Amino acid sequence: MASEHYDVLVIGSGPGGATTAARVAETGKRVLMLERGDFLPRERDNWDSQAVFGEGKYTADETFYDLHDRPFRPELHYCVGGNSKVYGAALLRLLPADFGEIKHPAGVAPAWPLNYADMEPYYARAEHLFWVHGKHGEDPFAGASSKDYKYPPVEHEPRIQELSAGLEKLGLHPFHLPLGVQLAQDANGQATADSRCIRCDRIDGFPCPLGAKADAEWAVIRPALAAHPNLSLMTRTTVERLLPDAGGRSVTGVAVTLPDGSPGIFTADIVVLSAGAILSAALLLKSATDEHPHGLANSSDLVGRNYMRHNNLALIAFSREPNPTVFQKTLALNDFSGPGEHWQYPMGCIQMLGKSDDWQLKGAAPRGLGWAPSAPYSEVAKHSIDFWLTSEDIPLADSMVTVRPDGRIKLALQPRNNVEGLTRLRRTFQAMLGKLGMVESAFVRSLYLHKAFDAAATAHQAGTARFGTDARASVLDVRCKAHDLDNLYVVDSSFMPSVGAVNPTLTIIANALRVGDHIAERIGTTQ
Ligand SMILES: Cc1cc2nc3c(=O)[nH]c(=O)nc-3n(C[C@H](O)[C@H](O)[C@H](O)COP(=O)(O)OP(=O)(O)OC[C@H]3O[C@@H](n4cnc5c(N)ncnc54)[C@H](O)[C@@H]3O)c2cc1C
Repeated sequence: MASEHYDVLVIGSGPGGATTAARVAETGKRVLMLERGDFLPRERDNWDSQAVFGEGKYTADETFYDLHDRPFRPELHYCVGGNSKVYGAALLRLLPADFGEIKHPAGVAPAWPLNYADMEPYYARAEHLFWVHGKHGEDPFAGASSKDYKYPPVEHEPRIQELSAGLEKLGLHPFHLPLGVQLAQDANGQATADSRCIRCDRIDGFPCPLGAKADAEWAVIRPALAAHPNLSLMTRTTVERLLPDAGGRSVTGVAVTLPDGSPGIFTADIVVLSAGAILSAALLLKSATDEHPHGLANSSDLVGRNYMRHNNLALIAFSREPNPTVFQKTLALNDFSGPGEHWQYPMGCIQMLGKSDDWQLKGAAPRGLGWAPSAPYSEVAKHSIDFWLTSEDIPLADSMVTVRPDGRIKLALQPRNNVEGLTRLRRTFQAMLGKLGMVESAFVRSLYLHKAFDAAATAHQAGTARFGTDARASVLDVRCKAHDLDNLYVVDSSFMPSVGAVNPTLTIIANALRVGDHIAERIGTTQ
């Protein structure tokens, strides 16, 4: 059986794993990243709605089971870069209040063991690492920033500029959505010849064949592999179990299935788990031994519990005039993210989405599209304006990942909690549409919501191995090392005790830099 020793092993090449691996590789120590998927092909289908959404061409061929043991296909992507290959690259910081306890009518989103100021320097580094374009200071609800973004915001096209002005007239505070794209611009905001991003309408859900989206492959893995010969990546290599030592206090390495289907073992001084919040929890549970009968790192019985994934809505509204915008995803709004005059509790965040095309509309539209019953979808699409509404969900101990006796994963999502915030956000926003040059009817774009199988919407998964100071009430310590083990770290979104109401990835990257710094200090540098 193949076996090789490294200083640090990293499981998973998504934003969490890739960022930690790249940071730790700066020490000169031998680092190996293990990824079950391959490089995603760069091909015409990358931008084809039918292939991406209709056939799920890049979605993992995976089956999970829901609360009632019904099979479903989760929204996961097994490839170099992980789910960031298809993400929307909206890279927002959590708000300062998100680090404290937040009261919702359905319960409490617990406080983190560190605060915004602790995380701020890592957010600033994460924004530079993932090419974020934006403007600090525009959003009055955001926390202070120690550094400007490296790149100016992606400018609004005229219809979105109009929308921004309309929102301001209503007394709101729209800001440029921070976006991870490779967009070189001249002083007039025009893309220059060396820009990879062509500001097309294919961003949410689509891989970018131009390498113009700041996914983990293009922003981190490719540059890090080129810069550090001590960093290696093995693709098509699935980690099956973590291997604890005889005393059960540390991990010696991992058992894998190699690309040719044969078993292998890699050993390491330090193991970093970043397979995504669902699969990291499942790996810990699958690695049970006599010393760890309920799974590795699970003396708290919290591994797999408190699964969160946000309450989300993709809302398609319709502009009275045609909306010729191509790159629509440039605006966001945090006015409803805290308690206020609209409601005594937080509702959530509103952002633009990439523009729906006729194929997507056809899949999402209710029968007899109210406002334009006979118009062909290509005509209807010319009027659509797409929004993404997110409100916080609350960690529940029995919303959880478990491994069934047949080895399959069960994702027991309890009926959605805290939906009142999202319902109110939708109503509040929909009531404004008329004043913003839109018709007041809107409908939900089902592509992200998996109407048939709610549990399949795993894009913002988090919380299954929360960090904290009390080993009885958390799985990881404040540095994201397992309380129970001396050399196992978890750096995907599993560590989050609560998720706020913004997309999670910038926080995953910032935290991965924080943990990466700690590991680098722990192992020292090669002379
Ligand atoms: C359609 C879509 C749109 C999104 N848009 C946004 C957005 O605009 N902004 C935002 O912040 N977030 C967005 N997200 C969420 C974002 O993609 C995730 O937050 C992010 O990718 C999580 O990073 P990660 O490193 O924790 O895990 P992942 O990206 O899930 O990476 C985990 C990696 O581990 C690998 N792996 C799993 N198990 C094993 C194993 N046993 N052995 C070896 N390798 C393994 C997987 O193949 C994968 O590559 C979106 C997600 C989707 C699906």
